[in-house]
Amino acid sequence: MRKKIVAGNWKMNNSLNETINLINDLKQNVGRTDVKVMISPSFPFLKTAVDQLKDVNIEVVAQNINDNKSGAYTGEVSTDMLKSVGVYTTLIGHSERRAYYHENDELLLKKINLALESNLNIIFCFGEELKDRKSNSHFDIVKSQLDNTVMKLDAKSWQKIVLAYEPVWAIGTGETASADQAQEIHEFVRNYILEKFSHKIANDLSIIYGGSVKPSNAVEIFNKKDVDGGLIGGAALNSNDFIQIIKANN
Ligand code: PEP
Repeated sequence: MRKKIVAGNWKMNNSLNETINLINDLKQNVGRTDVKVMISPSFPFLKTAVDQLKDVNIEVVAQNINDNKSGAYTGEVSTDMLKSVGVYTTLIGHSERRAYYHENDELLLKKINLALESNLNIIFCFGEELKDRKSNSHFDIVKSQLDNTVMKLDAKSWQKIVLAYEPVWAIGTGETASADQAQEIHEFVRNYILEKFSHKIANDLSIIYGGSVKPSNAVEIFNKKDVDGGLIGGAALNSNDFIQIIKANN
């Protein structure tokens, strides 16, 4: 079922105390909302976040998984470890993982398959770089990122997927895609999924936008018909801003 979502990606920020303080602010101030609120602290704080949010409708999400089930992969975190601390959703394919850790489509597909086998939900991130947009190849790039990954899934797997369109040139840069630019890609992706799978799958799928979403631009972006919410980086580190963004999606 298509949902409105606002997910905060805290990246490699915050100490344990800062994490707890931010969670407490959200607990006290998010209030009743139809929006599915998610937060993604760093690995060491996931269990604390799950415990703190036990009776609260805010889901804790991992920022990454390893593509192997278990074993000799020093420094890595497995899907089973996440489930054992109460985390049932993970980001996959964030542009920072693609750029700094060279995660390509082949690896991302392995991660997607393992997450699904492990019964995790996925927020799958994709999006073009500035050079792609400048050369007007953004539709082709987005299509190929999806073709090489989620388009290979079977129909029933889509229940476990949220897509996050995150143009790389808009992430952490202060440069936001206009609401029309976001809508154009979201509509293209939804139509493509409709063509390849079904009307129901396309219609039930949440496609969220990420890239310098702030309280000042969230309403306009979230009002677009194919934008179901946002993946928020910088602004999610400030509880007031994050709460305003959640309210913008009501
Ligand atoms: C992100 O990291 O997913 C993101 C969208 O970051 P920011 O909001 O800071 O651009």
